Amino acid sequence: MDLKKSERLQELPPYLFVDLDRKKAEIQARGIEVIDLGIGDPDLPTPRFIVERMIKAVQDAQYHRYPSSCGMASFRRAAADWCKKRFGLSLDPEREVIALIGSKEGIAHFPLAFVNSGDIVLVPTPAYPVYHIGTLFSGGKSYYLPLSAENAFLPDLKAIPRDILRDAKVLWLNYPNNPTAATAPSDFFAEVVDFAERYNIIVCHDAAYSEITFDGYKAPSFLETPGAREVGLEFFSLSKTYNMTGWRIGFAVGNSDMISALRQVKSNIDSGQFGAIQEAAVAALESDQACVREMQGIYTRRRDTLVTSLQILGFDVSLPKATFYLWLPVPRGYTSQLFSTFLLEQAGVLCTPGNGFGDAGEGYVRMALTVPRSQIREAIQRIDAVL
Ligand SMILES: *Cc1c(COP(=O)(O)O)cnc(C)c1O
Repeated sequence: MDLKKSERLQELPPYLFVDLDRKKAEIQARGIEVIDLGIGDPDLPTPRFIVERMIKAVQDAQYHRYPSSCGMASFRRAAADWCKKRFGLSLDPEREVIALIGSKEGIAHFPLAFVNSGDIVLVPTPAYPVYHIGTLFSGGKSYYLPLSAENAFLPDLKAIPRDILRDAKVLWLNYPNNPTAATAPSDFFAEVVDFAERYNIIVCHDAAYSEITFDGYKAPSFLETPGAREVGLEFFSLSKTYNMTGWRIGFAVGNSDMISALRQVKSNIDSGQFGAIQEAAVAALESDQACVREMQGIYTRRRDTLVTSLQILGFDVSLPKATFYLWLPVPRGYTSQLFSTFLLEQAGVLCTPGNGFGDAGEGYVRMALTVPRSQIREAIQRIDAVL
């Protein structure tokens, strides 16, 4: 059979980590234990009380039938209440909240609701790859907004050409940011709302790391900004907040017409997340959030160990206020790819080359704080030995 993949699959950006994955396997085959600072997936288990609620809920026959695609009323209410407690937002669980099968699912599907063939989507670079891929799958075109250190890793909205603004339908943002660990200053979202109103552009804010914050920093919600609910949506995820990446549960909140359009897309594609998982997620959202504070403490200690050691080794890096990532400029003479290959082959330490998140990530590697402190110390010793 002559299989010809669709143009959308053929157009997918090359997977830059193939090479590293192969080298990692080679090095492990030589009996060297690779310390993996590459993956953005919490190593810590889901808190026990959430697992226990799941064990009970899974036995409840009401969940053994099709769930509703937009999420159970109890889940949407818990999400709205969480947003109220956390950000002071008043959301209507019926019209302004929708459950997602992980926020990735909502991010990937959202453009199907608003983007036509040839429309432009404003996508930051470096960034989580799904903003571009969702655009591509909807037939849209990404226009890249570079995030650079000079601009505190915020997009320069004033630098976007007029003809691009005319055809742009959606703007993606993500703060606290993966991979740069940048946070949004308080006046930035107000500028975004002005921009969105002026050019009639939908704002989608990905807040997956809203709770991975340190030193008393509290990440704002985009929806707290006056006017935000007229122009956009915000995507939340339980994955990083409660160490639930494997469970696949998140939600979007905001503009009711946008939520309704996303609901229409999803009801034609999926039938929602398993009710028992939603019930366990309700337990997470309604809890006293002590598990979140505990998680923040663990990442803070790891971050301090990694950053202070790297500073001693001469790296130009400061303590990030949020996310479990470190966005590390590579030493002079290296590219992202060369430096990550060097660290992997010489030190057995795997980190992600920055250009894997887009061309503007060149010159950096991303290290994730998703390993125990003993392994971070070991990684530092190995890096010190080979530099
Ligand atoms: C991890 C991550 C997500 C998605 O998480 P889900 O598990 O799909 O909820 C979304 N955005 C960014 C930037 C992420 O790093």
